[in-house]
Amino acid sequence: MSRTASLRRVATAYVVALLVATAWVLVGPDTGRLWLDALLADVVATLAVFGFSRAHKNSSFYDAYWSVAPPVLLAFWWIVAEPAGDAARSALVALVVVVWSVRLTANWLVGFPGLHHEDWRYPLLRERAGRAELAVDLVAIHLVPTLQVFAGMLPVYVVLTRPGRGLGWLDVVAAVVGLGAIALETVADLQMRRFVRDRSPGEVMDRGLWGWSRHPNYLGELGFWVSLALFGLAASPGDGWWLFAGALAMLAMFLGASIPMMEQRNLERRAGYADVVAGAALPAPAVARHESSDGGALVTRPRVVVAGLGDTGVLTAVRLTRHVDVVGISSKPGLVSGQELGRRLARPEEWQRDYRIGFDRFRGLRRARTVHATLTGLDLDGRRVLLETSDGVTTIEEYDVLVVASGVTNGFWRRPDLQSPAEVDADLRSAHEQLAAAGSVVVVGGGAAAVGTAANLAGRWPDTEVHLHFPGERALPQHHPRVWRTVRRRLERLGVALHPGHRAVVPEGFACDRITQGPVAWSTGQESSYSDAVVWAIGRVRPNTAWLPASLLDDDGFVRVTPQLQVPGHPEVFAVGDVAATDPLRSSARNRADRLLARNVRAHLAGRALRAYRPPGRRWGSVLGAQHDGLQVFAPDGRGYRIPRWSVDTVLQPWVVRWGIYRGVSAGRGSRRCRSPR
Ligand SMILES: Cc1cc2nc3c(=O)[nH]c(=O)nc-3n(C[C@H](O)[C@H](O)[C@H](O)COP(=O)(O)OP(=O)(O)OC[C@H]3O[C@@H](n4cnc5c(N)ncnc54)[C@H](O)[C@@H]3O)c2cc1C
Repeated sequence: MSRTASLRRVATAYVVALLVATAWVLVGPDTGRLWLDALLADVVATLAVFGFSRAHKNSSFYDAYWSVAPPVLLAFWWIVAEPAGDAARSALVALVVVVWSVRLTANWLVGFPGLHHEDWRYPLLRERAGRAELAVDLVAIHLVPTLQVFAGMLPVYVVLTRPGRGLGWLDVVAAVVGLGAIALETVADLQMRRFVRDRSPGEVMDRGLWGWSRHPNYLGELGFWVSLALFGLAASPGDGWWLFAGALAMLAMFLGASIPMMEQRNLERRAGYADVVAGAALPAPAVARHESSDGGALVTRPRVVVAGLGDTGVLTAVRLTRHVDVVGISSKPGLVSGQELGRRLARPEEWQRDYRIGFDRFRGLRRARTVHATLTGLDLDGRRVLLETSDGVTTIEEYDVLVVASGVTNGFWRRPDLQSPAEVDADLRSAHEQLAAAGSVVVVGGGAAAVGTAANLAGRWPDTEVHLHFPGERALPQHHPRVWRTVRRRLERLGVALHPGHRAVVPEGFACDRITQGPVAWSTGQESSYSDAVVWAIGRVRPNTAWLPASLLDDDGFVRVTPQLQVPGHPEVFAVGDVAATDPLRSSARNRADRLLARNVRAHLAGRALRAYRPPGRRWGSVLGAQHDGLQVFAPDGRGYRIPRWSVDTVLQPWVVRWGIYRGVSAGRGSRRCRSPR
């Protein structure tokens, strides 16, 4: 929902709340006590806002209520009070309340991103509450703040309803404290807003008011409530201490809940925050609701968001976590690699031991925060990405540096949909079972995925007829010709029927995203082919870039990058892997550009020179994956090198890949999942 539409929705909620409260006052039970009638109407209005919060699954509906309700209470008391309080004092307190309210509401308005965003504390509170989340949402997020503000406003009630003494020195003190507090809060918010906008990565906010207080804006907020208590004291000195009860309750909430929650969050997210808590400035009180736009963070450490945790995203994140705060975003519940389709289809239990790994098993990711969500948007100016979680909640992640590694969609095996572990399991199992049950399989395509699939299916099920159809004279056109010569001999030994010169007609509207049955027609003139299963691997890749602004993309929708892997015009945005338009083959994943990228991200943050990515002109690497006689890896010049089978399982995977490349992967349950039926 756009910001304007969101604002309209919030305004509607408040108008409804006002109407409901007015109706309550007019036709509801009369308690005979003005303050109690106002309290009940305030609670009824809060319930109305709560209804909107629940309907939109976003408790931030309530945020502005904090600053909007007090002038309404004030107006109500002023109009209805009989007898009325001292006119000059009433006017003075009204001035302070209205200035405070307008300022704070405007501050909320400026920082309001829209209803896709929710204050980070609310989901945390609801999550902690478990089954009591509705009660916590109602009481802790909505009713308690309403009661606190009401308690803070009671001195105003006293001012407006007790004639008391005429204006005195205490009123002047109260007005000076109130207006001074508002000024303090305003300057603090402006300083923080400017800092967040212009900050350089790693910079610490220790200037201006923030240099002497950890929470100058909160201190200002408390000052405002104290000033109301002082006005009350001036109007009715006999009421004494309880006039300060509201301000004291706020102080208790700030010190007991708001500050600890916020500081805990900063400690978790920003390594340098511990130093600030230990060494910085005045311990000042905090207000829950009106933090600066970056969540009240006073120190910013470089924060790198890795968008997409596939093959390159994981490797990049692993290389960065020791140096910066890393947030990895993935639509998958762990690494579900795009590599080795053939082995994945033929021997999924083996494949997932090496290529499906929960994020918690990567030692290098332990310091990172991984978010299971779909990327839905990028705000380049605000330096934040938008995400949607499985329950439909939209959140935001801010970054100093963004690494785009969202890969491509390819066939049925690489899709960006948000999946649970059970759904990943089901995908693996169903493709395998379909092929296991087939007596004949047609594989369409001439790239590594198609060739590897044909070889692995034939090796796994020797009785199954496997046909490989490819358009040119030879398959693997992007590899050196020697590679095809070697691989062809192997395919022939395995009994794969080779059909060069076949270009399939892709049925209208079919995205090649499932294994099909039935005939395949050929635009190259041959008879249609019939088989029990057709694997479409025609290399129709689509970049996963729907969430990115078009200005970052080339004509084919891939992310434009400089040789340094930076997006032109946006040096804080990098891209790597299959999504990055690095070279015609978009080969930065297999060429391990994650290392260069991690280095360049650090160089960018430190203001050092960046290095360039130089891709080889031809594809290289493994085509068939590990076979019973070992793993054959082809160099760019087409020469093949065989790694013996025994060393694949005892040296290559555990030591070279898990330790050398991934920097440590703990044992997991992955290999027990998804057993093959035959
Ligand atoms: C070490 C290594 C060795 C390799 N060896 C070979 C080889 O021998 N032969 C060969 O042919 N190739 C090889 N490759 C390359 C490989 O085939 C692919 O190029 C590689 O899988 C691409 O990785 P990627 O990170 O770009 O994309 P992916 O692995 O597809 O990762 C993209 C991730 O982003 C997620 N995503 C996408 N959109 C969204 C969204 N909107 N919101 C949230 N998440 C999203 C996807 O779900 C996925 O998890 C190798 C790669 C590596 C890293």
